[in-house]
Amino acid sequence: MRKPDVVIVGAGINGLVAANYLQRSGCNVTMIERAERVGGACVSEVASVDGQTESYALGASVLGLMQDFVFEETGLSKRLQTFVPEHPKFIFFPGDTEPTWIFRDPSELDRELANKWGERGAVEAFREDEAKVVSFLQEGYVNAIPPSVDDAKRVLGDTLTKLWITGSARALMDHYLTSERSKMYMAMTVTESGPVPLSDPYSAFTLPLMDSGSVFGGYYGFVKGGIWRITEELGGINARLGVQTHLSSRVVNVEPSGGNLTYEHEGREQLLNFDYLVMGTDPLTATRLVGSPEQIKRTEGQRFRGSSGKLNVMFRNPIRWKFGSGASDSDAAFRFIFSVSSVEEYEAATLGVLDDNVDYTPGYMQIYCEGAAMRHLNHSEPFDRLAVFFKNLSLGQHGADLAGVEVQVKEKLFDLIENPEDCVWTRLLTPRDLQELFLFPGGNLDHTMLTGGQTYFDRTYSDDPATDFYRFGDLDNVYLCGSGTYPCGSVTGTAGYMCSQQLLRHAKLD
Ligand SMILES: Cc1cc2nc3c(=O)[nH]c(=O)nc-3n(C[C@H](O)[C@H](O)[C@H](O)COP(=O)(O)OP(=O)(O)OC[C@H]3O[C@@H](n4cnc5c(N)ncnc54)[C@H](O)[C@@H]3O)c2cc1C
Repeated sequence: MRKPDVVIVGAGINGLVAANYLQRSGCNVTMIERAERVGGACVSEVASVDGQTESYALGASVLGLMQDFVFEETGLSKRLQTFVPEHPKFIFFPGDTEPTWIFRDPSELDRELANKWGERGAVEAFREDEAKVVSFLQEGYVNAIPPSVDDAKRVLGDTLTKLWITGSARALMDHYLTSERSKMYMAMTVTESGPVPLSDPYSAFTLPLMDSGSVFGGYYGFVKGGIWRITEELGGINARLGVQTHLSSRVVNVEPSGGNLTYEHEGREQLLNFDYLVMGTDPLTATRLVGSPEQIKRTEGQRFRGSSGKLNVMFRNPIRWKFGSGASDSDAAFRFIFSVSSVEEYEAATLGVLDDNVDYTPGYMQIYCEGAAMRHLNHSEPFDRLAVFFKNLSLGQHGADLAGVEVQVKEKLFDLIENPEDCVWTRLLTPRDLQELFLFPGGNLDHTMLTGGQTYFDRTYSDDPATDFYRFGDLDNVYLCGSGTYPCGSVTGTAGYMCSQQLLRHAKLD
């Protein structure tokens, strides 16, 4: 039998994972990528300081949501070294004289939150119930079958399904927790992708979803060199498997019925035939290329808004943290700083940036100690580096035009550091920058917001999601697997994997 020709548009993590599985399963895979390198939003950039250069993560920084079997089966685990800080995270709220520690062990965490935040709720039950939902989701990933609410009810029961899947984050937190600080800590996940109201239906679901990675057992960590080594390595592995990749090539037209597409390369148009087309892009790009006017209108009506900023920072000497512990990985522990003191303030800051006249409403900062992690991996670099992921920025301005915001973020950060004078370089990226750099429609890291109507099983563009969840509309030969599809964004490739398995079943190649 002739091997089916599969063309994949977009060589981000999802396109790359789909290519890997399809090529190994007997398809002839060709990738078409607009940029001059593979990686999408998981790529590096080089900073130059005083004649020395260092790479940093332009988009994603930390790994955690990938599935362990994807890391193994693609061949990545043999080629990459990783490091996961085991040290509890350090959390700072306004006015704190010392941080709160987020222990991994639920009973230790329960004690710490009771002592520091006056928490009187059911922290251990929260973790136990979340683990049940996570294991239900992970089973769906392995089988490449996005679960339905009915499946959830059958496996988890009505109460857990309502609390953790169909309900709001606010109701979930009020059910298990009493302190405002515990609730804000848990709410961070919900608003990470964009300005999602905590009372939105399905907003609870973001919590187990974002903890459903298995590569590090639900935790987040680092890759030696930088997270972009994942997409670079996968591009290399795929090439050795026989995947053809055309870079600097933008797809401009698709004729699904004729099984061909046109892409532009160096000012010239090229035609390519396919048996199957996989769109590894954001849904708006995909819909505009393959959708009907009605589908385009529907997709344009989705919520794409992102509100995350990223400040990359370099220090000439290793950062000396004011708060730490004697543990060897204390320098690499995740550190979170809140600028708000109550859930009400948190929500006001989250939603405030929907006003186009507002540039920045301080919410929280997550500090990823990439340089320290590289030292733990014996990877030597000229500078120490941090990635500071922070909320909330509007879509209006470029980072280069927000010097005042950068000063505010640095002030908060430097409060925790003994040697701020060693900071030699920074770069601020806003949702507007992400929109232009990575083609994210509204600057949302996840391609679309994780909110009611576009999360869980609604992250599909198929007319027949029960049978072919990743198919595009009613087209028999077009699939979509970018981050806008189930389960979500992040450097995970879960959608790419699940889509590849459904395509193989459809083509009877599994
Ligand atoms: C600043 C930032 C920080 C982040 N931090 C993290 C983090 O720490 N951890 C984490 O796990 N995730 C993080 N994310 C999210 C994560 O990077 C993304 O969700 C993920 O990389 C998206 O992968 P993807 O393959 O779905 O899409 P993309 O990476 O968006 O890939 C789509 C590809 O399609 C190409 N394309 C689009 N249109 C065309 C066309 N017409 N023709 C040809 N090619 C086309 C694009 O060039 C792109 O390469 C972050 C993202 C950003 C921007």
